[in-house]
Amino acid sequence: MSSEIIDETILSELKFEKHKTMTNDIVLKLDTCGFKKESDKVSGCASYLLFSKQKNINTSATRLQLKKANFCKFRFCNMCNWRRSIAVARKLLESLEFLEHQTKISYLFLTLTIKNALTQDLKETVIHLNKSFKRMSETKLYENAVLGSFKTLEILGDNTKDGEVHPHFHILLIVKRNYFTSKDYIKHDTWVQMWQDALRVDYAPVVHVQKVRTIELNKDKNLTALQSAVFEVAKYTLKHTELTRKNCIDFTHIINQTKNMRFYSAGGFLKDMLDFIKTDADLINLKLEKNLLWEEIEELLYNWREGNYFLKK
Ligand SMILES: [Zn+2]
Repeated sequence: MSSEIIDETILSELKFEKHKTMTNDIVLKLDTCGFKKESDKVSGCASYLLFSKQKNINTSATRLQLKKANFCKFRFCNMCNWRRSIAVARKLLESLEFLEHQTKISYLFLTLTIKNALTQDLKETVIHLNKSFKRMSETKLYENAVLGSFKTLEILGDNTKDGEVHPHFHILLIVKRNYFTSKDYIKHDTWVQMWQDALRVDYAPVVHVQKVRTIELNKDKNLTALQSAVFEVAKYTLKHTELTRKNCIDFTHIINQTKNMRFYSAGGFLKDMLDFIKTDADLINLKLEKNLLWEEIEELLYNWREGNYFLKK
């Protein structure tokens, strides 16, 4: 288990502080571009955090678990996206571990892009991308090779020009362990052709495909392929860094056109397992896990004041 990465029990209030502080940019941007209501909403996000302090009945070790907080659930709130990424990573890890017990699998990362679109056409372009992905996933080649998928949408690239957006998919694909030597193996050129056909465009779109390798975190800690895969995908659920650099015209289009847009989806084996993704609120307000080994010894209430969380005495 890559519990150190995603287990909430070891998250200190410092991590909450970091993500709360990171919301400053988006609060300011919303305010500047006339989204007063949204700005207030994000500004008030997680103004309090209630933790359950628990003791392990065998070892007497203690831990903190978040019990309650007032999250704003705004799509581009750094705090809420951090919460979402923890939930996604946790759920994915659980599902993939389950799958690994059933069958031998490997992972691929697939990035599918389209030429930049005009910002005002963002919604329409994302609808087209989703339809195209569905078309591609229904081809024989894809069906033979891929057992399951988890797909995240990013809407900007690095330094996307003013007036443009760069919606693209990052997809984790689950393939059979022997995929790389089997007849079902899909070469890069073929992926490009498949995506071009699905998009119904007259140019070869940029497509990246790579095997998920173990990531070296530091000298003595390597992640398994499974953990690396989860780590990579969860990362994209956080990335909205370019958004606050946009001018107000682009920013307004993006905020308005992404309302109710789904940023994650799962296919194949993972579809049923990751059904939870429909309930965004659950992703942010993670439920406290019941565990008989841990008992609550006290509640700790933190309030946000002038850039810090203070423990209420
Ligand atoms: Zn929030």
